[in-house]
Amino acid sequence: MIADQIKAVIRDIPDFPKPGIIFKDITPILKEPKLCEDIVDAFIGQLQGTRVDVVAGVESRGFLFGLTLANKLGVPFVPVRKAGKLPYSVKQKVYELEYGSATIELHTDAFEPGQHVLIHDDLLATGGTVTAASELIHEMGGVVAGYSFVVGLNFLNGKEKITPVSDNIIVLAE
Ligand code: AMP
Repeated sequence: MIADQIKAVIRDIPDFPKPGIIFKDITPILKEPKLCEDIVDAFIGQLQGTRVDVVAGVESRGFLFGLTLANKLGVPFVPVRKAGKLPYSVKQKVYELEYGSATIELHTDAFEPGQHVLIHDDLLATGGTVTAASELIHEMGGVVAGYSFVVGLNFLNGKEKITPVSDNIIVLAE
């Protein structure tokens, strides 16, 4: 099973980037081309019947599989980036973190109003980042097609916290 393969390869790094966090390092996956291909195929399989016009990958590890997934679906890829990184005109969303706030941005021409946008990231933790991305996409006139993640941290209940509630949340390994 793809979930077992992913879990066997990723590694836990305790106390990174700060004490108390167990960081899920997905970089060993990237050294296994067949597994990378299988991950994208698993997403494609689970997206059967879902309209996806654009894939939006969240900085930075959401770019890794997001672009390949978009290529294989034959649709555009757009990067969701932290403030100040995108060179063209942008629309931004400020969202609250446990301590302080963060800002994400999309290019204003990332997609056309009415297009269905799949939000992709490597890992689902609290769901705060993709909720902010979802709100930004809605404000820009897009329709959120769903969410896809390689890994999910079950104990944080991110699936239940993503708003608006979605029945199309794909998590390959949780
Ligand atoms: P969240 O908004 O809480 O769902 O956090 C998701 C974002 O933070 C993703 O872009 C992840 O790459 C990153 N992230 C959060 N927690 C972890 C963790 N324990 N290990 C690796 N990445 C994490």
